Parts: sequence; structure tokens; C-alpha cells
Amino acid sequence: MAMLRKLSLRPFFLVALSASALSSFILWETARQARFSAIDDIKKSSGGTLALVVENLSGELAKYSFQPRLLSTSSVLVDALKHDPDDPNLRRVSEELARINGVTGALATYLMNRGGLTIAASNWASEGPFVGRNFNFRPYFQQAMHGRLGRMFAMGTTSGERGYFFAYPVRDQGRISGAVVVKMDVSILERGWRAEGHEILVVDDAGVVFLSSRPEWRLRSLTPLTAEQQQRLDQTRLYADEKIDPLNFVLSADGDMTRISVPDAGADEGSPHRGGRSFLVQETAMEHAGWRVMILSDASSVEARVRIAMLVAGFMLASLFLLALNIYQRRKRFNERIELQEAARGELEGKVVERTRDLSRAVAQLRAEVNERERAEAHLRRTQDELIQASKLAALGQLSAGVSHELNQPLTAIRSYAENARVFLSRQDSGMADSNLGRIAEMCERMARIIRNLRTYARNEPVGSRPTRLQQPIRDALALLDGEFRKAGIDVELDLGNEDVVAIGGDVRLQQVFVNLFSNAMDAMEKSPLRRINVTINRESDEVAIKVSDTGPGIAPEDLDRVFDPFFTTKDVGKGTGLGLSISYGIVNQFGGSIEVANRQEGGTTFTVRLLAADQRREAAE
Ligand code: ADP
Repeated sequence: MAMLRKLSLRPFFLVALSASALSSFILWETARQARFSAIDDIKKSSGGTLALVVENLSGELAKYSFQPRLLSTSSVLVDALKHDPDDPNLRRVSEELARINGVTGALATYLMNRGGLTIAASNWASEGPFVGRNFNFRPYFQQAMHGRLGRMFAMGTTSGERGYFFAYPVRDQGRISGAVVVKMDVSILERGWRAEGHEILVVDDAGVVFLSSRPEWRLRSLTPLTAEQQQRLDQTRLYADEKIDPLNFVLSADGDMTRISVPDAGADEGSPHRGGRSFLVQETAMEHAGWRVMILSDASSVEARVRIAMLVAGFMLASLFLLALNIYQRRKRFNERIELQEAARGELEGKVVERTRDLSRAVAQLRAEVNERERAEAHLRRTQDELIQASKLAALGQLSAGVSHELNQPLTAIRSYAENARVFLSRQDSGMADSNLGRIAEMCERMARIIRNLRTYARNEPVGSRPTRLQQPIRDALALLDGEFRKAGIDVELDLGNEDVVAIGGDVRLQQVFVNLFSNAMDAMEKSPLRRINVTINRESDEVAIKVSDTGPGIAPEDLDRVFDPFFTTKDVGKGTGLGLSISYGIVNQFGGSIEVANRQEGGTTFTVRLLAADQRREAAE
């Protein structure tokens, strides 16, 4: 995962690089398209305005161009030209021209003779009357003298007013005798040109602006005049004595259009663009007038539109970029989270594997320990069983003296009874012989009982516990020791009750326990004057308590805790093994019971064996 991230860095930079290149291209193309479309819009709207302006100009000019032609046919004017220029009658002609001028709305209407002298004029009564002035230098006069309509824009040399002059020859019987001139007011043309965002210029063939929506641009040239052009102006006095200064326009090409930058009025001449305005130019030629009509459209809207388009595109790109960044970061965070989860899972899995291994090891160890323990327990049980058996056989060895005495006694009696029986048979005394034989049978029976008891004792009882009538093993143990007891002069007091007492145990092993207890009691009372063993059986709730008491010397208090320890003995070497009580303890324990010892107040000891009482009915069923 870490390697993947390292690898993905390079593509990221490549993507970022191409994204910025693409963004730059988009911005550049947006600007280009916006500029193109804005210029196109301007072209369309200013083109329309320009056509209207030209139409209006042509209409106005046409209106005035007919007036001198109409006047030239007037007999008053034809006659006037026949008069001497100083003729006072010409005053009436001037008055007539003033009247006509008032009707047509021209600036001035006047009559010139062949020499170019003004002989009558509508403004005869004004401060600067044309009458008596010679305008033969004016091209319009010269054109009229050539028999055609003379027309031109010019500055009045007398009035200083701009005007458009129309001149037409006055013919007297086919001969040109003079010219009638109408000076039209051009300022009316400029009215209404100051439309929003547009400036209109009308320039002559020399590039001099003579009509303009902006007064400060009037009578200035678009470009500095050449010497030749200046000379012509001086000759024709076209713009009177006005000095034609060039406008400080900066012209440049903008696509298929011309751009004019107009510096701010207060701006430095050397930095035309600063604070000034910029216009896009469209122009059209008015052939018949020899003019060029130009419309200047404010180009700031182009820049504004480009700026807005750039802003919108920039904003969209920035949004796109932010979105992409957001997606990228979310993805990154997601990947990091996944990575963390993977790592955590990996760690967890590692831990689980480790724990499982530890656990399996522990389980295996536990199993081995359990097996070992079971083996040890089995071994212990075997050893215990062997020990029980061994100690039993050892006890048998010790008992053998008593047993042989037990057997010898009936044997001796049987021999005597047999001899007696033979004597009685020889005497034909069958009654007595039979009685002796009966005694012999009794003796045999007793011997058989003793031998059976011994065999039972020596038997290796199967392991396990079962309900057992307690009186039986007690009696069997006593029967085994009977001979010994008699020899030692021991009294046995039994209080076993009249009913069978059944407890959980086993015949042979319980017999072994009682043999041990009785033997120990017998040994203990060896030197006691009173030798009595007392055996009782009592039910104590769920248990049965068998108490074996003797009249021996008791056990020293410091030995009370040790008598059940294996190999603890106070008896002489060769007599005691110190195993009897320890084995008895083990047997009773196997049956789920207990064994304890206490010294009696009146002397001697009491051993108490407690066994679990067995259900009578259950036992009976079994
Ligand atoms: P052993 O009989 O071979 O000595 P036991 O385990 O049967 O081994 O007895 C251990 C010791 O307990 C005996 O040596 C004896 O000192 C003491 N003891 C057992 N029973 C009696 C008893 N009834 N009176 C006095 N001491 C006894």
C-alpha cells in the first residue's frame, strides 16, 4: 500500500501540470472568444448607427443642394447680376435673399458675380455682411463657374462659422453671369449624435474632422497634415485662418478593426492610454461629398466583457479545481483509513494467531499434564492397591500363628473324637459313636469357616465401592483375630444393633480396616490390666459411624496428628510397619468416608470410621 502511494505521486504532478496547462488554455480561449463576440456585437450595433447617421447626413445635404439650383432660375438674381455692384437697388435683392434664407433655414444665401464679388447677401444687415466681399478663391465658386454644382465644407472667413456651401451658376441667356450660394448650418447635423457609447466623426479627404459629436475634436486632423495638404488649405482658406492641429489619437489595429485610444484630457501626451478611453472604429465613405463618416464605439465594454468572461471561467475552473481537490483529498483520506484498518486488522490477526498458538500450546501442555496426572493417579491407585494387598498379606503372616492355633485345636479335638468313635464302635455303642462323629463334623465345619474367612481376607477385591452390610466385615475381622484375642485375654464388646446397617464400602477392604484397628488395639493393651475392645455402630444423619475403643494407654498428644502418616510406628523393629493406619485411611477415603482418632477420658483410644449411609431400598433392589 505504501509503495502504491509512492508510485502515485508522479502521476499526481503530471495531472496537476496538465490541469494547469488546460486551465490556461481555457482562460486564453475564453478571453479570445469573449473579445471576438463583444467586438462582433459592437460591430453590429455601431454598424446600424453608422448607416443611420450617413442616411441622415445624405438627406440633409440633398435637401440643401437643390436650393441654389432653384434660386439660379430666379429673374431677380439674373437681373441683379446685370447691375453694377455698387447699385443701391441691389439692397432689395439682399432683402429678398434674407427673406428666402429665413424660409429655408440656411446660415446665409448670397449672390456672387463672375469676378467672385458678393453683390447681394441675406446677411447684409448683420455685423459681418458678405456683400462687397470676394470669395473667388473658394473651390465651390470655381466649381460653379465651371457650370456645375459647387459644394464643400468650409469655415466662414468672415463669420468664422462652419458651414456647408452649395453654389450653382446663374445663367443669363446661356452664359454664366455669376453664382448663387447657400451656406448650410452643419451644427444641426451634429445634434443627436451624442448617443450612449458612440462618438461620430466626419472627416474630409485630408483627414480633418469638421463634424464631430465632441466639440473639442472639431477642426483637428486625425493625423498630422502633410506640407502639401497644409498648402492647399492655405490656398482655399477652407477652414479660414483656423490652425489645424492633429488630434492626439493613437491608432492601432484590433483584429479587422481600427482601435483609437484617446488619452485623458489631463493625461500626459506621452502616455495616451493612461486614464483615457479606447474606441473601436467603423467608417464609411460618402463618395459624393468626399467625406468619411466614422463611428467610434467605446471599447471598454469589450474589456469588461472579457473580464467578466474570464472571471466566470476562472471561477468555474477554481470550483472545478476545488471539487477535484476535495475528491482527491476524500479519496486520500478514505485510502488512509482503509490502510489503517488493514494495519489494525493485520495486527489483530497477528495477535489472534499468536494468542491461538499460545492457547493451543497451553491446551497441549494442560492435556499433557492431565495425562500425566491421570497416569500418576492410576499408578498411585495401583500402588495403593498393591500396598493394601501387601499389607493384608503381611497381616496374614502375623495372624498365621493364631490361625494355626485355631486350626490345630479342632484337629486335636477331631483326632480325639475319632479315636473315641472307634472305641465306641468296637463296643457296638453306636449312639456314642454317632455323637462323636457329629462333633467331628462340627469341628470340620469350624475349620472350614476359618479357612473361608482367611481366603476371603486374602482375596483381591475389585476396586470401587458398593453398599455393604457393616456387621459382616466387623464380625469377619473379629473371627480372624479370635484366637489371638483369646490368647491375649481380650474381651470384645459388640453393640452392632439388631438391624443390618448398610453403608458405601467394600467387604474385604472394610474387613482389612477393622483387622488393622483391632490388631492395633490388641497391641496397645498388651500391658494393660483391663483388656477390652468396644465396637459400636451408630447412624449420624447421612453417615454411619463405627467406633472402636480400647483400654490401652492412649496416644501421646504430639503423635495424634501423625498416626495416619505412612511409616509412623512406635512399635519395635520387626513388629510394626507404620502402614496399617495409613492404608486404612486411604481405603476409607476411597469410599468417600473418613477416619479419626481421639484419646478417651477414662484411658485408651477411640477410632471413629464414618461411611456414607446407603439407601436400604436401593440396596435391596440391587
Ligand atoms: P504399626 O501398627 O505397624 O505401628 P499403624 O499405622 O497401624 O502401624 O500404627 C501406627 C502407630 O499408632 C502405632 O505404632 C501406635 O503407636 C499407634 N497406635 C495405633 N493404634 C493405637 C491404639 N489403639 N492405642 C495406642 N496407640 C496406637
